[in-house]
Amino acid sequence: MEVAKLNIVTVIVDALRFDVLCRVIHSGLSSNLSQIVKGNSFFKDCYALTNVTDSSLTTIFTGLHPLTHGVLSHGDRLSPWETKRAHKLNTLPKILSRNGYFTIAVDFLDRWHSQGFHIYKTPSASLLMQKISQFFGFLTSKPTVNIFISRITQLVESVSYKARLPSFLKAISDCISNRFFKHFVTGLGGFTNTKYFTNFSLNLLNKISKLSKPFFLLIHYWNTHSPYHSEGIDIERVRKIVERYHKEMDMPLNNVLKRIKHPLLVSYLKNWFKLRKLKDTLDVISQYYAAILDIDKQIGKIINFLEEKNLLDNTILIVTGDHGESLGEHDIYFDHHGLYEVNLKVPLIIFSPKLANEGMFNIMMKNNHITHLDTVPTLLDLLNLPKDSLKFDGQSLLRERKDNSLIVAIETYTETKLSAKNGDWKIITSITPKEAMCRYCGRIHGGLNELYDLKKDPHETKNIAQDYPEIFNSLKNLASKYLARFKLYHKLSRLSIHLKKQKRKNKHFK
Ligand SMILES: [Zn+2]
Repeated sequence: MEVAKLNIVTVIVDALRFDVLCRVIHSGLSSNLSQIVKGNSFFKDCYALTNVTDSSLTTIFTGLHPLTHGVLSHGDRLSPWETKRAHKLNTLPKILSRNGYFTIAVDFLDRWHSQGFHIYKTPSASLLMQKISQFFGFLTSKPTVNIFISRITQLVESVSYKARLPSFLKAISDCISNRFFKHFVTGLGGFTNTKYFTNFSLNLLNKISKLSKPFFLLIHYWNTHSPYHSEGIDIERVRKIVERYHKEMDMPLNNVLKRIKHPLLVSYLKNWFKLRKLKDTLDVISQYYAAILDIDKQIGKIINFLEEKNLLDNTILIVTGDHGESLGEHDIYFDHHGLYEVNLKVPLIIFSPKLANEGMFNIMMKNNHITHLDTVPTLLDLLNLPKDSLKFDGQSLLRERKDNSLIVAIETYTETKLSAKNGDWKIITSITPKEAMCRYCGRIHGGLNELYDLKKDPHETKNIAQDYPEIFNSLKNLASKYLARFKLYHKLSRLSIHLKKQKRKNKHFK
């Protein structure tokens, strides 16, 4: 007799930062996440290996380091080479559909992310909203068209900035970009509206739950990505919690705008702050906290649905963030560039009453140094699926693991840097000084070489690289040895310049 396979619901909450989620859970305002983490399945030591969605999501669903799967950048900065390579990857939805799963995703990223899914959809607003919005021409359920509109908007903006257009043309271009932006901010297009995402997903699930197949559902919520969006959350109460943790970060938003150099980003932020009537950083941070509380409600809806349909006992629910978010820490505002803890440390929740009863979580929770590399091998073990010839950079949390205390992360989108964390020590280092410059902020965040003692300084406020050069160098050497295993690290021209320089230096010392 065949054993019934477990269903999987994976919730990716974009830019979900670990420490903020913990505060929201303990705020007394969360009613669902605070319940599900009680099942001893909340991993408090999980890391993303990069800080952009395209790259990180690829890691989450392949169990491969960005330097193995080759998707290093994101969105408009991906090379055709990266995209082509990504399409050939063996991803979790592909593995599951080969093993008899019905696979559904609700997201708008598309491209290789949609491979292996029987259904890959972007929800749009209610029918009435759709009609009204279509009348004004700024809503479509097709992700490609939405992306096309956003590209046109960006192009119009960038031309108007570069060409110093006469004021009447500038006004027209502002009007176009504001119109698209309004659609984005209000969530009409479904990008940031969690309610549409949840209802859409559960409707699909309702239809396919009659099939005799196990299912894999991916929901990727975007409301926690800027411009943070929530509905029905008491923002005044949220602000009181935010004041408790972020009081010293409070400043007028005009000062934030002065810290950013990229003209399109400045215009985007200005629009966002204006449309939402936000005055200071704590206002914006409150929006982020509220967005997580909105997610809390969605998780409740998903669990209720599974319970009603008698599916909860047969389903594993996974919640994680693709990366974190910097809310002003390290002089980085409402974005996730930089390899600091706020951007890399993410929650990982694996919720399943059945597995909890079987004692599976007791085994898994003994592990530490968990990364996104471990989710696919762990899941395949939990589902008892064959790994065959599949290769992962991560290790299952159900097996004896090799030493994995070294966590090496990389970013190439806004600036090019590497970070290596080993126990309580962490370095962040530039690969080439030229590429260490942040193209959003026009400065090098934290310097070319950073060293932090996370035990004494968990918020990475005191760079001690110059005080402890031997610790910095030994961790850098450890990272270099780790990186040497990746063919791509040597191939990448930008990265190899650095390696060549290092080699030359070593020769000199010999
Ligand atoms: Zn920056």
